[in-house]
Amino acid sequence: MTRNFDYVVIGAGVLGTAAAYWLARSGESNVLVVEQFALGHDRGASEDHSRIIRHSYHSTTYTALTHAMYEHWSELEAQTGMQLVTRTGGLDLAVTGTAGEEELANYRAALRPFDIPAEDLDAAAIRDRWPQWRIDDDVIGMYQSDSGILDVRRACAAQIAMARRLGVEFAPHTTVLDLAPTDDCVVISTDRGPITAGNVVVCVASWIEKFLPCLGLRWNISLTQEQVGYFATPNLAEFSPDRFPVWIWHGDTDLFYGFPVYGEAAVKISRDFSGRFITSDERSSRPDPEDTALFRAFLEQRLPAAAGPELLSKTCVYDLPPDRDFVIDRVPGHPRVTIGLGAAHAAKFGNLLGHLLADLARTGTTAFAVDAFRADRPALDDPAFVSAFRMGR
Ligand SMILES: Cc1cc2nc3c(=O)[nH]c(=O)nc-3n(C[C@H](O)[C@H](O)[C@H](O)COP(=O)(O)OP(=O)(O)OC[C@H]3O[C@@H](n4cnc5c(N)ncnc54)[C@H](O)[C@@H]3O)c2cc1C
Repeated sequence: MTRNFDYVVIGAGVLGTAAAYWLARSGESNVLVVEQFALGHDRGASEDHSRIIRHSYHSTTYTALTHAMYEHWSELEAQTGMQLVTRTGGLDLAVTGTAGEEELANYRAALRPFDIPAEDLDAAAIRDRWPQWRIDDDVIGMYQSDSGILDVRRACAAQIAMARRLGVEFAPHTTVLDLAPTDDCVVISTDRGPITAGNVVVCVASWIEKFLPCLGLRWNISLTQEQVGYFATPNLAEFSPDRFPVWIWHGDTDLFYGFPVYGEAAVKISRDFSGRFITSDERSSRPDPEDTALFRAFLEQRLPAAAGPELLSKTCVYDLPPDRDFVIDRVPGHPRVTIGLGAAHAAKFGNLLGHLLADLARTGTTAFAVDAFRADRPALDDPAFVSAFRMGR
């Protein structure tokens, strides 16, 4: 028997659960979330203890949204009584005379129009404040005090709970096989039978490939295999969230980033964009020892007191549009289908983007500036577009 809903959200990660929450909060009473795995599973991009949340970004496209981003999480925290954001401060570092220094300049420039304060620090000041860092005199930094940790797993759970409270239904272990948009509804084929929906919100991140043909889209979305490492430092107190900030090292080749001790009795380190391109079927949950060695080498060189034994490593897949900007829009030619693609930097914006997606699905408009995230922008399907996966470069 075909089940009918006004809204069906596909994907129960941080974007999908936020969209469902905001649809219900906007008064929609007949909303279903379909998820191929269990709710809270660990195979997507919205699992793990921590994701960096920050104002500091390479472009005003994003800094224009960061105040609202923080407000959305604060409101959800107030509603749930749960702490989702831990402010640790954030340190962006680079070596003078490198491309990294230019990136920092872009970050600084993107903060100014929105009066977001940041401190410029030289190597001595950094070493003085965080003696954990072993850096040469040619290193500079930019400190922003609102940066910190979004507990993305808790955030998803909070959004699911609030959505349920507002009447949203969830169908885990249900895989969407195909979408057939018509003029007056969308027919959704799943491995548990058909569903019809007045409107569909697609938030499937690195599984987007499957949905492009049925929506007539020819986007060049790249997938990369990524990894994070937890290292069991014996110096837990030195790396506690109230003594050590989240950090981003704007290296010439690799952009490394890391977290104080949070979620595990360990520090966490990773790099942004490994360059390991894969297809959706090639994704692997087996960590690569080469990455572990790379992360350990970075810690031994720059944060030696953090370099304990590897506690655990996790893999994850990036969903990368060629310009690395979000896609938050209705599908051209299919106004009943709205897509949210986070370009592998959306956890921090999760609740806000859910709000935008709900607005667009309901009315086709939103009060927020989303022109840069249009689904018909040339970068998405222009074969001549030169990919720019490293943000701010
Ligand atoms: C290693 C790593 C580090 C990151 N660090 C940061 C960071 O520090 N800060 C930050 O802001 N962002 C960061 N990100 C990006 C951020 O995590 C993602 O942008 C965000 O989590 C994406 O959420 P999502 O809901 O779009 O995707 P997901 O959480 O992947 O959810 C998509 C869901 O769709 C479901 N699905 C897919 N296909 C189907 C189908 N056919 N039928 C039913 N269900 C389906 C999947 O099972 C999944 O649950 C990082 C990402 C990675 C991988």
